[in-house]
Amino acid sequence: MLSYQHIYHAGNLADVHKHALLAWMLAYMTEKDKPMSYLETHAGRGLYQLDAPEAVKTGEAAAGISLSDAQGWFGKEHPYSKALGVVRETHGEAAYAGSPLIAAHGLRPQDRLHLAELHPKEFAALDWVMASFPARCYQQNGFDMALSVAPPVPRRGLMLIDPSYEIKSDYDTIPGFIARVHRKWNVGVVVLWYPILSNGLHKGMLGALTAQTLPKVLHHEVRFAPARPGHGMIGSGLFIVNGPYGVEAQAEHLSRVIS
Ligand code: SAM
Repeated sequence: MLSYQHIYHAGNLADVHKHALLAWMLAYMTEKDKPMSYLETHAGRGLYQLDAPEAVKTGEAAAGISLSDAQGWFGKEHPYSKALGVVRETHGEAAYAGSPLIAAHGLRPQDRLHLAELHPKEFAALDWVMASFPARCYQQNGFDMALSVAPPVPRRGLMLIDPSYEIKSDYDTIPGFIARVHRKWNVGVVVLWYPILSNGLHKGMLGALTAQTLPKVLHHEVRFAPARPGHGMIGSGLFIVNGPYGVEAQAEHLSRVIS
Protein backbone atom coordinates (compact mmCIF):
# COMPACT_ATOMS: atom_id res chain seq x y z
CA MET A 1 0.00 0.00 0.00
CA LEU A 2 1.39 3.41 -0.96
CA SER A 3 1.63 5.88 1.91
CA TYR A 4 3.53 8.80 0.33
CA GLN A 5 1.44 11.97 -0.06
CA HIS A 6 2.97 14.88 -1.89
CA ILE A 7 0.96 17.44 0.16
CA TYR A 8 3.65 17.14 2.90
CA HIS A 9 6.29 18.34 0.43
CA ALA A 10 4.36 20.54 -2.04
CA GLY A 11 6.13 23.75 -3.01
CA ASN A 12 9.49 22.73 -1.50
CA LEU A 13 12.80 23.47 -3.21
CA ALA A 14 12.71 20.24 -5.19
CA ASP A 15 9.26 21.19 -6.53
CA VAL A 16 10.49 24.65 -7.49
CA HIS A 17 13.46 23.10 -9.32
CA LYS A 18 11.33 20.54 -11.17
CA HIS A 19 8.25 22.67 -11.84
CA ALA A 20 10.07 25.81 -13.02
CA LEU A 21 12.14 23.86 -15.53
CA LEU A 22 9.09 21.85 -16.63
CA ALA A 23 7.04 25.02 -17.21
CA TRP A 24 9.89 26.58 -19.16
CA MET A 25 10.38 23.51 -21.40
CA LEU A 26 6.66 23.26 -22.20
CA ALA A 27 6.50 26.98 -23.02
CA TYR A 28 9.40 26.52 -25.43
CA MET A 29 7.83 23.45 -27.03
CA THR A 30 4.44 25.15 -27.51
CA GLU A 31 5.98 28.07 -29.42
CA LYS A 32 5.56 25.88 -32.53
CA ASP A 33 1.97 25.50 -33.75
CA LYS A 34 2.27 21.70 -33.94
CA PRO A 35 0.31 19.85 -31.23
CA MET A 36 2.15 17.88 -28.57
CA SER A 37 1.62 15.23 -25.90
CA TYR A 38 2.45 15.37 -22.20
CA LEU A 39 2.84 12.10 -20.32
CA GLU A 40 3.34 11.81 -16.58
CA THR A 41 4.01 8.50 -14.83
CA HIS A 42 3.55 9.66 -11.18
CA ALA A 43 1.12 12.57 -11.27
CA GLY A 44 0.05 13.11 -7.65
CA ARG A 45 -3.19 14.98 -6.99
CA GLY A 46 -2.42 18.00 -9.20
CA LEU A 47 -3.49 20.72 -6.76
CA TYR A 48 -2.27 21.44 -3.21
CA GLN A 49 -3.23 23.94 -0.52
CA LEU A 50 -0.18 25.16 1.35
CA ASP A 51 -2.31 26.08 4.40
CA ALA A 52 -3.52 22.46 4.74
CA PRO A 53 -2.42 20.83 8.05
CA GLU A 54 -0.09 18.38 6.27
CA ALA A 55 1.79 21.17 4.44
CA VAL A 56 1.89 23.36 7.56
CA LYS A 57 3.24 20.42 9.59
CA THR A 58 6.44 20.14 7.55
CA GLY A 59 6.59 23.80 6.47
CA GLU A 60 8.71 22.79 3.47
CA ALA A 61 7.25 25.44 1.17
CA ALA A 62 8.83 28.18 3.30
CA ALA A 63 12.30 27.52 1.85
CA GLY A 64 10.79 26.83 -1.60
CA ILE A 65 7.96 28.64 -3.32
CA SER A 66 7.43 31.14 -0.46
CA LEU A 67 11.09 32.19 -0.58
CA SER A 68 10.97 32.29 -4.38
CA ASP A 69 7.94 34.60 -4.23
CA ALA A 70 9.55 36.84 -1.61
CA GLN A 71 12.85 37.12 -3.52
CA GLY A 72 11.39 37.20 -7.05
CA TRP A 73 13.35 34.24 -8.46
CA PHE A 74 11.16 34.17 -11.56
CA GLY A 75 9.81 37.21 -13.41
CA LYS A 76 6.08 37.70 -13.95
CA GLU A 77 6.45 36.49 -17.53
CA HIS A 78 8.14 33.22 -16.57
CA PRO A 79 5.81 30.31 -17.50
CA TYR A 80 6.04 28.95 -13.91
CA SER A 81 4.89 32.31 -12.47
CA LYS A 82 2.09 32.50 -15.03
CA ALA A 83 0.79 29.00 -14.23
CA LEU A 84 0.93 29.65 -10.47
CA GLY A 85 -0.81 33.00 -10.98
CA VAL A 86 -3.78 31.39 -12.75
CA VAL A 87 -3.99 28.59 -10.17
CA ARG A 88 -4.00 31.09 -7.27
CA GLU A 89 -6.68 33.19 -8.98
CA THR A 90 -8.82 30.09 -9.45
CA HIS A 91 -8.18 28.17 -6.22
CA GLY A 92 -7.07 30.84 -3.71
CA GLU A 93 -3.78 32.43 -2.62
CA ALA A 94 -2.60 29.32 -0.72
CA ALA A 95 -2.99 27.09 -3.77
CA TYR A 96 0.05 25.42 -5.30
CA ALA A 97 0.01 23.62 -8.64
CA GLY A 98 1.39 20.13 -8.98
CA SER A 99 3.13 19.18 -12.20
CA PRO A 100 -0.06 18.06 -14.05
CA LEU A 101 -1.67 21.45 -13.47
CA ILE A 102 1.53 23.35 -14.35
CA ALA A 103 1.59 21.35 -17.59
CA ALA A 104 -2.12 21.84 -18.30
CA HIS A 105 -1.78 25.61 -17.97
CA GLY A 106 1.20 25.61 -20.33
CA LEU A 107 -0.49 23.48 -22.98
CA ARG A 108 -3.18 24.32 -25.55
CA PRO A 109 -6.54 22.76 -26.51
CA GLN A 110 -4.89 20.82 -29.35
CA ASP A 111 -2.41 19.15 -26.95
CA ARG A 112 -3.05 15.94 -25.01
CA LEU A 113 -2.15 14.90 -21.46
CA HIS A 114 -1.83 11.31 -20.17
CA LEU A 115 -1.49 11.18 -16.38
CA ALA A 116 -1.00 8.10 -14.20
CA GLU A 117 -1.54 7.98 -10.44
CA LEU A 118 -1.86 4.76 -8.46
CA HIS A 119 -3.05 5.96 -5.02
CA PRO A 120 -6.90 5.89 -4.97
CA LYS A 121 -7.41 9.19 -3.09
CA GLU A 122 -4.71 11.05 -5.01
CA PHE A 123 -6.17 9.68 -8.23
CA ALA A 124 -9.71 10.85 -7.37
CA ALA A 125 -8.43 14.37 -6.62
CA LEU A 126 -6.37 14.39 -9.82
CA ASP A 127 -9.29 13.22 -11.94
CA TRP A 128 -11.46 16.02 -10.51
CA VAL A 129 -8.91 18.78 -10.97
CA MET A 130 -8.05 17.79 -14.55
CA ALA A 131 -11.68 17.49 -15.71
CA SER A 132 -11.67 20.74 -17.69
CA PHE A 133 -8.42 19.96 -19.56
CA PRO A 134 -7.71 17.68 -22.54
CA ALA A 135 -6.37 15.08 -20.14
CA ARG A 136 -6.83 11.37 -19.62
CA CYS A 137 -6.13 10.14 -16.09
CA TYR A 138 -5.17 6.50 -15.49
CA GLN A 139 -5.38 4.79 -12.12
CA GLN A 140 -2.59 2.52 -13.18
CA ASN A 141 1.11 1.87 -12.69
CA GLY A 142 2.71 4.84 -14.44
CA PHE A 143 5.52 2.79 -15.98
CA ASP A 144 2.95 0.51 -17.66
CA MET A 145 0.82 3.46 -18.80
CA ALA A 146 3.82 5.19 -20.36
CA LEU A 147 4.96 2.08 -22.23
CA SER A 148 1.45 1.47 -23.57
CA VAL A 149 0.93 5.09 -24.71
CA ALA A 150 4.43 5.75 -26.15
CA PRO A 151 4.87 6.78 -28.89
CA PRO A 152 1.92 9.06 -28.21
CA VAL A 153 -0.31 10.86 -30.67
CA PRO A 154 0.67 13.65 -31.27
CA ARG A 155 4.23 12.33 -31.45
CA ARG A 156 6.01 15.50 -30.32
CA GLY A 157 6.03 15.65 -26.58
CA LEU A 158 7.47 15.39 -23.11
CA MET A 159 7.28 12.72 -20.40
CA LEU A 160 7.84 13.50 -16.73
CA ILE A 161 8.89 10.65 -14.42
CA ASP A 162 8.57 11.79 -10.83
CA PRO A 163 8.34 8.82 -8.45
CA SER A 164 8.25 9.15 -4.68
CA TYR A 165 10.94 6.37 -4.57
CA GLU A 166 8.87 4.87 -1.75
CA ILE A 167 9.22 1.62 -3.67
CA LYS A 168 12.98 1.12 -3.53
CA SER A 169 12.99 -1.03 -6.67
CA ASP A 170 12.21 2.19 -8.60
CA TYR A 171 15.94 2.97 -8.50
CA ASP A 172 16.67 -0.29 -10.35
CA THR A 173 13.68 -0.10 -12.69
CA ILE A 174 14.18 3.43 -14.04
CA PRO A 175 17.31 3.16 -16.21
CA GLY A 176 15.86 0.22 -18.19
CA PHE A 177 12.47 1.92 -18.35
CA ILE A 178 13.96 5.10 -19.84
CA ALA A 179 15.92 3.05 -22.38
CA ARG A 180 12.69 1.27 -23.44
CA VAL A 181 10.76 4.54 -23.69
CA HIS A 182 13.52 6.03 -25.81
CA ARG A 183 13.56 3.02 -28.15
CA LYS A 184 9.79 3.36 -28.67
CA TRP A 185 9.74 7.17 -28.81
CA ASN A 186 13.11 8.51 -29.90
CA VAL A 187 11.88 12.10 -30.39
CA GLY A 188 10.31 12.35 -26.94
CA VAL A 189 11.74 14.65 -24.30
CA VAL A 190 12.11 12.48 -21.19
CA VAL A 191 12.54 14.17 -17.81
CA LEU A 192 13.40 12.21 -14.66
CA TRP A 193 13.39 13.77 -11.20
CA TYR A 194 15.36 12.16 -8.38
CA PRO A 195 16.36 13.13 -4.85
CA ILE A 196 19.99 13.63 -3.91
CA LEU A 197 20.26 11.62 -0.71
CA SER A 198 22.84 11.87 2.04
CA ASN A 199 23.07 8.05 2.09
CA GLY A 200 23.87 7.98 -1.64
CA LEU A 201 20.98 5.61 -2.52
CA HIS A 202 20.37 7.44 -5.82
CA LYS A 203 23.93 6.96 -7.07
CA GLY A 204 23.54 3.45 -8.51
CA MET A 205 20.61 4.59 -10.65
CA LEU A 206 22.55 7.58 -11.91
CA GLY A 207 25.54 5.44 -12.75
CA ALA A 208 23.31 3.10 -14.80
CA LEU A 209 21.63 6.06 -16.52
CA THR A 210 24.86 7.75 -17.52
CA ALA A 211 26.28 4.44 -18.80
CA GLN A 212 23.46 4.28 -21.38
CA THR A 213 23.93 5.94 -24.75
CA LEU A 214 21.08 8.42 -24.71
CA PRO A 215 21.10 11.54 -26.89
CA LYS A 216 21.33 15.12 -25.69
CA VAL A 217 21.41 14.41 -21.99
CA LEU A 218 21.27 17.29 -19.52
CA HIS A 219 21.98 16.28 -15.98
CA HIS A 220 21.24 19.11 -13.58
CA GLU A 221 21.48 19.10 -9.79
CA VAL A 222 20.91 21.69 -7.09
CA ARG A 223 21.98 21.19 -3.48
CA PHE A 224 20.28 22.62 -0.43
CA ALA A 225 20.06 22.23 3.34
CA PRO A 226 17.86 19.34 4.55
CA ALA A 227 14.27 20.38 5.34
CA ARG A 228 14.85 19.37 8.99
CA PRO A 229 17.73 17.92 11.00
CA GLY A 230 18.29 14.34 9.99
CA HIS A 231 16.22 14.57 6.79
CA GLY A 232 17.99 12.60 4.11
CA MET A 233 17.29 14.76 1.03
CA ILE A 234 20.10 17.26 0.43
CA GLY A 235 19.35 18.22 -3.16
CA SER A 236 17.26 17.74 -6.27
CA GLY A 237 18.27 16.27 -9.62
CA LEU A 238 16.84 16.25 -13.11
CA PHE A 239 18.03 13.91 -15.85
CA ILE A 240 16.71 15.14 -19.20
CA VAL A 241 16.92 13.32 -22.54
CA ASN A 242 16.38 15.32 -25.77
CA GLY A 243 16.01 18.57 -23.80
CA PRO A 244 14.85 21.53 -25.90
CA TYR A 245 17.24 24.22 -27.11
CA GLY A 246 18.11 26.68 -24.35
CA VAL A 247 17.30 24.40 -21.41
CA GLU A 248 20.91 24.63 -20.15
CA ALA A 249 20.62 28.41 -19.65
CA GLN A 250 17.35 27.97 -17.76
CA ALA A 251 18.99 25.30 -15.59
CA GLU A 252 21.86 27.70 -14.84
CA HIS A 253 19.32 30.27 -13.68
CA LEU A 254 17.90 27.70 -11.28
CA SER A 255 21.38 26.93 -9.95
CA ARG A 256 21.90 30.63 -9.26
CA VAL A 257 18.63 31.19 -7.40
CA ILE A 258 18.38 27.92 -5.48
CA SER A 259 21.92 27.06 -4.41
N1 SAM B 1 4.63 14.77 -9.97
C1 SAM B 1 3.87 15.33 -8.86
C2 SAM B 1 4.10 16.81 -8.79
O1 SAM B 1 5.23 17.25 -9.01
O2 SAM B 1 3.14 17.53 -8.53
C3 SAM B 1 4.25 14.66 -7.56
C4 SAM B 1 4.20 13.18 -7.59
S1 SAM B 1 4.64 12.38 -6.09
C5 SAM B 1 6.35 12.71 -5.97
C6 SAM B 1 4.63 10.69 -6.58
C7 SAM B 1 3.24 10.10 -6.75
O3 SAM B 1 3.37 8.84 -7.40
C8 SAM B 1 2.47 9.83 -5.49
O4 SAM B 1 1.23 10.50 -5.53
C9 SAM B 1 2.24 8.29 -5.47
O5 SAM B 1 0.96 7.92 -4.99
C10 SAM B 1 2.36 7.97 -6.93
N2 SAM B 1 2.84 6.61 -7.28
C11 SAM B 1 3.72 5.81 -6.63
N3 SAM B 1 4.01 4.72 -7.36
C12 SAM B 1 3.31 4.83 -8.51
C13 SAM B 1 3.23 4.06 -9.71
N4 SAM B 1 3.93 2.92 -9.85
N5 SAM B 1 2.43 4.48 -10.71
C14 SAM B 1 1.72 5.63 -10.59
N6 SAM B 1 1.75 6.42 -9.49
C15 SAM B 1 2.55 6.02 -8.47
